Amino acid sequence: MDKIKMTVPLVEMDGDEMTRILWKMIKDELLNPFIELKTEYYDLGLENRNKTDDKVTADSAEATKKYGVAVKCATITPNAARMTEYDLKEMWKSPNGTIRAILDGTVFRAPIIVKGIEPCVKNWKKPITIARHAYGDVYKNTEMDIPGPGKCELVYTSQNGEEVRSLVHEYKGAGVAQAMHNLDDSIESFAKSCFSFALDTKQDLWFATKDTISKTYDHTFKDIFQDIFDKEYKEKFEEAGINYFYTLIDDAVARVMKSEGGYIWACKNYDGDVMSDMVSSAFGSLAMMTSVLVSPQGYYEYEAAHGTVQRHYYKHLNGEETSTNSVATIFAWTGALRKRGELDGISELTVFADKLEEACKNTIESGKMTNDLALITTIENPTVLNSEEFIKAVRETLEASL
Ligand code: NAP
Ligand code: MG
Repeated sequence: MDKIKMTVPLVEMDGDEMTRILWKMIKDELLNPFIELKTEYYDLGLENRNKTDDKVTADSAEATKKYGVAVKCATITPNAARMTEYDLKEMWKSPNGTIRAILDGTVFRAPIIVKGIEPCVKNWKKPITIARHAYGDVYKNTEMDIPGPGKCELVYTSQNGEEVRSLVHEYKGAGVAQAMHNLDDSIESFAKSCFSFALDTKQDLWFATKDTISKTYDHTFKDIFQDIFDKEYKEKFEEAGINYFYTLIDDAVARVMKSEGGYIWACKNYDGDVMSDMVSSAFGSLAMMTSVLVSPQGYYEYEAAHGTVQRHYYKHLNGEETSTNSVATIFAWTGALRKRGELDGISELTVFADKLEEACKNTIESGKMTNDLALITTIENPTVLNSEEFIKAVRETLEASL
């Protein structure tokens, strides 16, 4: 069989620890034998980030703007312990944060569903994709301890010095106060990323806030979404046969629990933080969760939602066997390859991505899986494979389907 040829490179962002080990295995076993892989390689491993003063991270994000599609391995976000472990010059920022700041994107997280790994919510049949607005609100707030009786106000001063004041509360005793903000630009980018990802994946888009209570703040989110939808996306949604649906956050939560899944749920920053943990754990396993950063300009960066699986890596370094699940990392590659195939009109690449995903699912459904899934599967007597054996088993399933 001839290898599939690519015309435009993928931006490849290598990473750290156990996922870096899996990265190489995936390329050797599942990609290079079938594709003449064309990538522009950026080593985002912590050692190289330190060596390049983290320039490599910004460069990789710029390359994503140039080529449109990136695939990223999990990376260490340094903390105090990592400073000594890697002898770092500085506590470099989270690469995901740096990349997101450059691409101005929204992160969409979706579970990979297989038979035998059943969601806790029994009527969930299709993935629920969570889109979290990643700017502002309580994450960039200002808080104040109110020591005793007195008046707390919000004051806005315009550039020419005019003041607008609004009473927060007349305190009769001690208490607390908080101010939050957001930006129209950021909300617009969020909305555009959500609408284009819905079109891209042909799924309905749900959005919910508490606009009945928050008549200015949350209402602005609702209005901006509706405005952009009416102006830019309404017809496209009709053509694609999908819907945009706005409701109150409490109504949304109730509907989500009763739904069968298969839509994108756009959430404000805090809701997204909380709901993504709930939805992902209810679907089964962090190791079966994909993540894609979509910029409002339509740049895509695919990755697994989990981290570098440090505990497994230390076992690996000790020469012990590991059983680390590579499925979400494989799906990062298939997501990126499929997108490249679509953008460049290379249908073989799209078909290959579908087949590799099917091979992962079929391998697990046949009872062969890594330990994390064996612990929660409803399949009886699963065969527990180590990290490498699982990838080889996927290759066997894949080859049989090609
Ligand atoms: P983690 O890599 O998400 O792993 C936490 C635990 O979850 C593991 O110890 C393992 O549990 C289980 N797990 C996660 N992924 C798994 C997989 N693919 N297969 C099997 N089990 C899996 O989080 P961490 O170990 O606490 O963090 C390590 C590093 O990752 C940190 O430096 C953090 O900064 C970084 N991180 C990066 C990203 C990213 O790049 N997107 C995201 C999150 C964290 P058991 O040990 O019980 O088997
Ligand atoms: Mg959280």
